[in-house]
Amino acid sequence: MDYRDTTDEAAFRGRLRAWIAEHAPGHLPRDPDARVDVLNQWHRAMYQAGWVGLTFPVEYGGHGMSPVYEAILNDELGAAGAPPPPAIGHITNAIRLFGSDEHKRAHLPGLLSSTVRWCQGFSEPNAGSDLAGLRTRAVRIEATDGSPAVYRIDGQKIWTSEAVWSQWCLLLARTEADQPAHRALSMLLVPLSTPGLDCREIITAYGTREFAEVFFDGAEVPVENVLGRPGDGWTIAMQLLGYERGPADVGWVARLTRMLTVLEDDVRLGRVPAGPTERRAIAHAWTELRALQLHVQRTLSSRLDGSTPGPEGSIDKLLVTRAEQLLNHVNLAVRGAAAILADGDEIEAYFWSRAQSIFGGTQQIQRNIVAQRVLGLPRR
Ligand SMILES: Cc1cc2nc3c(=O)[nH]c(=O)nc-3n(C[C@H](O)[C@H](O)[C@H](O)COP(=O)(O)OP(=O)(O)OC[C@H]3O[C@@H](n4cnc5c(N)ncnc54)[C@H](O)[C@@H]3O)c2cc1C
Repeated sequence: MDYRDTTDEAAFRGRLRAWIAEHAPGHLPRDPDARVDVLNQWHRAMYQAGWVGLTFPVEYGGHGMSPVYEAILNDELGAAGAPPPPAIGHITNAIRLFGSDEHKRAHLPGLLSSTVRWCQGFSEPNAGSDLAGLRTRAVRIEATDGSPAVYRIDGQKIWTSEAVWSQWCLLLARTEADQPAHRALSMLLVPLSTPGLDCREIITAYGTREFAEVFFDGAEVPVENVLGRPGDGWTIAMQLLGYERGPADVGWVARLTRMLTVLEDDVRLGRVPAGPTERRAIAHAWTELRALQLHVQRTLSSRLDGSTPGPEGSIDKLLVTRAEQLLNHVNLAVRGAAAILADGDEIEAYFWSRAQSIFGGTQQIQRNIVAQRVLGLPRR
């Protein structure tokens, strides 16, 4: 394997690096609304400069480039400590892969340009890992006065990231009462301004408000807002999970490498006192990071050979989570109380690393996926 840039890749990297140096915002504000504003501006600036949707098909507004360019983008942003790019992940790909022509026309431009924000309404108070058991119902109602049929939605979602700042929700709901569990769900495109929908923010233990509970009380959407066919919801959800991982992992590696390099420099220059125990912990963190880096490069190689995202993404999620949690733990342990009391980036990154083993499927669920869908082990 040769990971050096080709001439074209090196030229792309050079242009990108210069652009990031000129345009990246500095520290993100702590105030959540101000932070979202800065991120929105950043994502729109990236879009206008042509850095968004690099691997997305040209016919849908992307650039149709090889995944290696997406990896370079994430690498450079991570190494510069710039905010990540907008996630052209599962929601955008859901609409590209399963949406009607009308869905694609209506929603892809806003998603790519970050002018319209979306959230994902899957989890419920009693259905997180056991997603197939979700209870939110969408019942098809045929009008008697000749107006178009609608789905009437009742139920509750929870942990919906960024719902308070979003305009649309990709909602997984139970539509087919007479079907077995995995054929009973549908994916619906729901405007958050729909009457009968109430979005209430949740303040996290760390004081941020990126989550919400979303309540549906007779909220109605046209039947055309079903993505794919009624009953396809579970299949779509499972296929999309693979799109949560990908070249963005290169960016995680770059960000973590930056964090560890800064810590190492602080220890070497005596800015942070560290004895043999702390130095051994840093060495351990380096080893984990290097293993993660090699794994991510291998995944990228197979992506370049044409493989599409699948259940193997769970291996990446497990490794990224382990490395990120270890590095953040070492960073705080070596820096000590000063970093905690400073209430700055370090403690924020530490809290975020704890959430890594829950969102997008917990560690245990990822291991189940690896066991059953990658290794083909029996369920019991
Ligand atoms: C930062 C963050 C962002 C999130 N964003 C969103 C979002 O935008 N949209 C959304 O819909 N959800 C979101 N979630 C919710 C997330 O998907 C769920 O929290 C997650 O799927 C776990 O579900 P749960 O919280 O109900 O825990 P539970 O499913 O109740 O799990 C509790 C514990 O039991 C274990 N467990 C459960 N079932 C099994 C099993 N079969 N085998 C082994 N162990 C098992 C789990 O691993 C876990 O340790 C987010 C969560 C976080 C932390």
